[in-house]
Amino acid sequence: MIALLLAAQIAATPAPTFIIVRDGQTTTQVPVTIYDGEPCVRADLLMRAMKGMLITGTNLHFTLALPRARLDLIDGIPFAKFDTLTVPLTRAPQARGGQLYLPFQFVSEVIPRYGGGYSYDVAQGELRTSALTAVGRAPPPRVTATPPPTVAAAPPVRTRAASRSAPKVVVIDAGHGGPDRGMIGPIGTPQWFTEKDVTLSVAKKLETVLRARGYDVLMTRTTDTLIALSDRGRIANSNHGDVFISIHCNAPGSNTAAGARERGFETYFLAEAKTEDERRVQDMENESVKFETGANAPKGDPLNFIITDMAQNEHLRESSDLAQTIQQGLIDVHPGPNRGVQQANFAVLRGSYMPAVLVEIGFGSNQSEATYLSDQANQRALARNIAESVIAYLQHYDSRIGGAR
Ligand SMILES: [Zn+2]
Repeated sequence: MIALLLAAQIAATPAPTFIIVRDGQTTTQVPVTIYDGEPCVRADLLMRAMKGMLITGTNLHFTLALPRARLDLIDGIPFAKFDTLTVPLTRAPQARGGQLYLPFQFVSEVIPRYGGGYSYDVAQGELRTSALTAVGRAPPPRVTATPPPTVAAAPPVRTRAASRSAPKVVVIDAGHGGPDRGMIGPIGTPQWFTEKDVTLSVAKKLETVLRARGYDVLMTRTTDTLIALSDRGRIANSNHGDVFISIHCNAPGSNTAAGARERGFETYFLAEAKTEDERRVQDMENESVKFETGANAPKGDPLNFIITDMAQNEHLRESSDLAQTIQQGLIDVHPGPNRGVQQANFAVLRGSYMPAVLVEIGFGSNQSEATYLSDQANQRALARNIAESVIAYLQHYDSRIGGAR
């Protein structure tokens, strides 16, 4: 199931066989080479064409020193650092035979975004200083001197240009599954409420609404199966998800009468858990790890962890905004109470390099809320409401990104 989804999600924007770097009157051709079936450009040739410099540091570190910006890279790590931002890459830069090869995404996306005043013209295969583009004084393209860029016989990569016109991808994660039932409830009665079933049912309804509104949806699971927490984020990343929504049901810390009265909805984004209650939910949801076999367990590579941490930081503010939007929206349909936006360090959110939230849609441990959450019409209302918030968020985010260009 996952393998099929992986294949279906890749959008097509072929790279040319070479690109033209235009800086004022000067144009330089930089060949696009195919490495491991993926289009790449040599960092030194690109830097020379852009009047920048490739600086080779220690420990596989490289710096692209452009006239107006610096980007730091590590050989084999699919991220670039720009100031304090960590920019995810479609694939890692590779040093081979004394040369550093950059994924084509650098030309089509990273440099136009972070390079300090460049734009990439997909049709012309031309990277140019955007000052000229903006003022409109650019001389007519002299591409007649060279053959027009042709389509390389390489597997397509999804570039930013493609993703802007392509539908947004919402990753929906139905919490738990298979042997991991999640919480069961209610407290003090025969336990008929199972979290994993309710989360899947709501997730599917959310999928239906979003698809009807023209969004692409990737489900981390569509059946009663166990997906490792670390894999849920990985599935989202490899499919270029734009947002990640994990659906869960809540339970109190103790099975007491007071615990049974707990109810309401809350939305989490990734950060260190601050309060005792946040830590409780964090521990409860991270419990799923114990159901995972060694093969699926996180690798625990310290470098991986640091990189993951950096990548998620970039989306912290956006994740918080998304959590806020969803939580505010739910006030309109949920009987409540509104328990607010919370932060915790969820394993499921940790591996996703995109704005990511976890919604606790209510307490299955509370008799009346368990009944409310099990009702199909209520599930549809919750799903519709969450979908509207996600759409509102994506539209807002899109206009902000557009304005920054
Ligand atoms: Zn859960």
